[in-house]
Amino acid sequence: MTRTLIIGGGVAGAVTALALAKAGYTPELFEAYETSPEHRGSYLTVAVNGLSALYAVDAVDAVNGIGFAAPSIAFYLGDGRKLNEVKVGGSLPDGTATRSVRRGELHARLLDEVRRRGIPVHTGKRLKALDEKKDGVTAYFADGTSATGELLVGADGVHSTVRRLILRGSATAPYTGLINVGGFSPAAGLGLAPGEHRMVFGRRAFFGCAVEPGGDVWWFANLGRKEAVTRDDLEHLDDAGWKSRLARAFARDKGPARAVVAASGPLTVSNSYEVPDLPVWHTARVVLTGDAAHAASPAAGQGASMAMEDGVVLAQCLRDLPTYEEAFRTFQELRRPRARRVTAQGARASKFKAVGPLQRRVRDRKLPALLAGHASGGEHSLAWIYEHRVSWDTRVEAAAG
Ligand SMILES: Cc1cc2nc3c(=O)[nH]c(=O)nc-3n(C[C@H](O)[C@H](O)[C@H](O)COP(=O)(O)OP(=O)(O)OC[C@H]3O[C@@H](n4cnc5c(N)ncnc54)[C@H](O)[C@@H]3O)c2cc1C
Repeated sequence: MTRTLIIGGGVAGAVTALALAKAGYTPELFEAYETSPEHRGSYLTVAVNGLSALYAVDAVDAVNGIGFAAPSIAFYLGDGRKLNEVKVGGSLPDGTATRSVRRGELHARLLDEVRRRGIPVHTGKRLKALDEKKDGVTAYFADGTSATGELLVGADGVHSTVRRLILRGSATAPYTGLINVGGFSPAAGLGLAPGEHRMVFGRRAFFGCAVEPGGDVWWFANLGRKEAVTRDDLEHLDDAGWKSRLARAFARDKGPARAVVAASGPLTVSNSYEVPDLPVWHTARVVLTGDAAHAASPAAGQGASMAMEDGVVLAQCLRDLPTYEEAFRTFQELRRPRARRVTAQGARASKFKAVGPLQRRVRDRKLPALLAGHASGGEHSLAWIYEHRVSWDTRVEAAAG
């Protein structure tokens, strides 16, 4: 029984814990936050490729029980023209399809499943330092405590401390130039259909929403901004300030953006980051996974699904290969090409979201053909993202060293 410390209780940490336990390891999870994640963040879409990875760890019900199906997204221009309806993958044999879920609820459900299987979850444990020795790793936390295991998984997100500690020079995640604002609004009177998923390439900003059947409108907006939002900005600009900034950005756009934003409850504001290709994802005893190892811009809509796939593949490598180093190296080699491709797709999608007046004309001319390509299954089809499957029964062979 190999005691494995997992740093971070997001999607990557939770799914890795479930998968490692299934592979016969003894995972233990350490999360920086003390409180329940129930109310953190806005919403995200878990695509069918991610859900298929949850099957591998017998946890798909954790997600199928929340949110609602998102089989397709309708795209519009800010002038009101509908561009296309693009499928977000097909269905699994039992009918499971891509779902939109509240982020906090997703994290809470996955952590509940981890606890239900008897895997310890320690909260209020913010990793500060690591000591890696020949036979194990000790993690030191901000509260003065420590834990020692034979292995350590860094699942601590885009600003990973584990990454900083093991890869010093490649530690930072660059800001992509887009900020995200999101929230929840009452659907009544907004003229949106229940279950609808809509995205709008506006004149100055991007808008997306998902209409919960019988409930709220879940929405987000992307604004272009040279500098990332700082803690100071957040202290000085309250929700009313952000709402009026968004009202100005969407002033000349048709569609629901302005009304949805105006009706919204509390807002979440964050920056978009990427973790571009790292030279290596591991040391002898420590490995990175999820956003800590590779983060595409949120525009890819794949970070959570990629984290789920990662968790399963990492556990398969540790299950099937004779040494930890071989397992970590093989995990990196198996996952890296897909991570690179998804990151490149995210960067392309991100580039179209907030553009200047000249680029906008070019973009608006290109978008109909591009989205028709996404919709039609041709050269620009995104099927390679959604049709990817990881299966627990696949045996892993060591990657060439
Ligand atoms: C606005 C936005 C929209 C997005 N939309 C989508 C979408 O629709 N679909 C999709 O698939 N992806 C989406 N993503 C990306 C997705 O959220 C991430 O890729 C995914 O959450 C990565 O999971 P993770 O577990 O690797 O990291 P995280 O979810 O960031 O989890 C990391 C965890 O580690 C903890 N932690 C951090 N530092 C420490 C420390 N030092 N010690 C202990 N714990 C620590 C954190 O508190 C956190 O709980 C979006 C991202 C953003 C920002």
